Amino acid sequence: DHGLQISLYQPFRDFEGMPEPQRSRTFDRVERKFDIMADLGTDLMLVCSNVSPVSLGGIDRAAADFRELGERAQKRGLKIGYEALAWGRHVNDHRDAWEVVRWADHPGVGVILDSFHTLARGIDPETIRSIPGDKIAFIQLADAPKIDMDLLYWSRHFRNMPGEGDLDVTAFMRAVMATGYDGVISLEIFNDQFRGASPRSIAVDGYRSLVNLMDRVRRLEPGIAVDLPDLPSRVHVAGVEFVEFAANETEAEELGAMFAAMGFERAGRHVSKDVTLWKQGSINLVVNTEREGFAHAAYLVHGTSVCDIGLKVENAQATLERARALKAEPFEQAAGPGELKIPAIRGVGNGVMHFLDETSELANVWAIEFRPVASEEIPAPGVGLTRIDHVAQTMNYEEMLTWTLFYTSIFDTRRTPMVDIVDPGGLVRSQAIEGADGALRITLNGAENRKTLAGRFMAESFGSSVQHLAFATQDIFATAERLAANGFQPLDISPNYYDDLEARFGLDPEFTDCLRAANILYDRDEAGEYFQLYSPNYGEGFFFEIVERRGGYDGYGAANAQFRIAAQKRGLRPKGMPRG
Ligand code: MG
Ligand code: MG
Repeated sequence: DHGLQISLYQPFRDFEGMPEPQRSRTFDRVERKFDIMADLGTDLMLVCSNVSPVSLGGIDRAAADFRELGERAQKRGLKIGYEALAWGRHVNDHRDAWEVVRWADHPGVGVILDSFHTLARGIDPETIRSIPGDKIAFIQLADAPKIDMDLLYWSRHFRNMPGEGDLDVTAFMRAVMATGYDGVISLEIFNDQFRGASPRSIAVDGYRSLVNLMDRVRRLEPGIAVDLPDLPSRVHVAGVEFVEFAANETEAEELGAMFAAMGFERAGRHVSKDVTLWKQGSINLVVNTEREGFAHAAYLVHGTSVCDIGLKVENAQATLERARALKAEPFEQAAGPGELKIPAIRGVGNGVMHFLDETSELANVWAIEFRPVASEEIPAPGVGLTRIDHVAQTMNYEEMLTWTLFYTSIFDTRRTPMVDIVDPGGLVRSQAIEGADGALRITLNGAENRKTLAGRFMAESFGSSVQHLAFATQDIFATAERLAANGFQPLDISPNYYDDLEARFGLDPEFTDCLRAANILYDRDEAGEYFQLYSPNYGEGFFFEIVERRGGYDGYGAANAQFRIAAQKRGLRPKGMPRG
């Protein structure tokens, strides 16, 4: 009824290498399974390698069993595929499975390759290249996070979509396609998290993972035939061009006061909408107080929040095209008078992501859509903020794989290893999505419960995603001084943080005093140093961060997060108190 067909059937285990009397019984059983296959209208049976303790080893013995099985199958118009389980008793390597199939030498018997079984055991996928493509009966794909555990348990509970884990599924699939294989490419995923998830979003993730994988394979393995329409390559992001907040007038004033204290200048008013532009360095913050349209709808659901992120790309239209090919949801809203039509998609938490480029009229969006404000205000002197260093998005932990795949498949980015952030209310998992040049940095924080600051933010803002924005400065001490002169009150960090820090890094006490006096957090690694300064919480737990990176420091100060969270939790309004 739904246009589905069964391309593979796996009703049957522990087949090959059985001693008598089990061997005869096994062949009797298989005939029953063939009957079912006829009823189901399917013609390919998967037989995975035997795990039975009574089974006997030996390539010849297994090959003879498969030759007989192939004969019986052929009489019924059926075919057999043999798969090496990573924990098979005698055969646990695709090279051995292929040897068995090669020795069986029967047209109805092929080998089934499963990326998990090959890659989880660290078997070089290049060895697949020597298998003739027409002897590969079926391909099963899964990725998985690198976890050191029992193979069977790992496989049954942690498999995920290609690109969501740490296995080199691309290398596996390159080798498969190089053999000339042109059959079905399937996903075989067992994952506890996926079982309860929305079927639609799992389906989109699966589709996205396959299109992204095969697009990569095609680019890396020229000359192979891939049945996939052309799509633009992964998009390099040159930076965050703007961040837009949805607010009402009162909260827009509060937000504006905070921006002004952070050295932003009210730089423009939209030609036709209640939208204000704040600027400092190359940072553009937009505050939208319209009473209709997307921003207003976002405001009604989430309260004052980030509703839109604008990314600088080389070709905005091509970016949209790739995103659409990967089943991202396009976003469109009728353009008002004087407005440009800017390509956009839906992002995390139903927020919107716009794409701006330098090669079309989009390059002049600020001049076209905004008029300078005639203000009696004395323009705020900047505090040295230059650009957006990172955008931090919060989500339920279960959604992290979806959004890492979203970012890494559309954009030319990589994910950093997951780190655990200890919040007194529970764990928050954190992972960064970065371009190689650091121009785009997005941190994803997965909250497991509502007792963490991140989880509370999710609940109180009804799923708003952007929890903090980090601005870059080239001199955090000078910035801190100017912030203080503007009346900006940084988040108050506990003095014992600095005692610990001094001991941990062997810091000069005078240097520690400077950090302490300005409430600046500090981190260091082999590559360089990192300085962080936070604003207090705003609204439902949104905040700003100011960072300075020295040398090649590439992290986000994860070790400091628990101190920041403790400081923020002290400042939270009591539960049940009204907003504001
Ligand atoms: Mg399998
Ligand atoms: Mg941060």
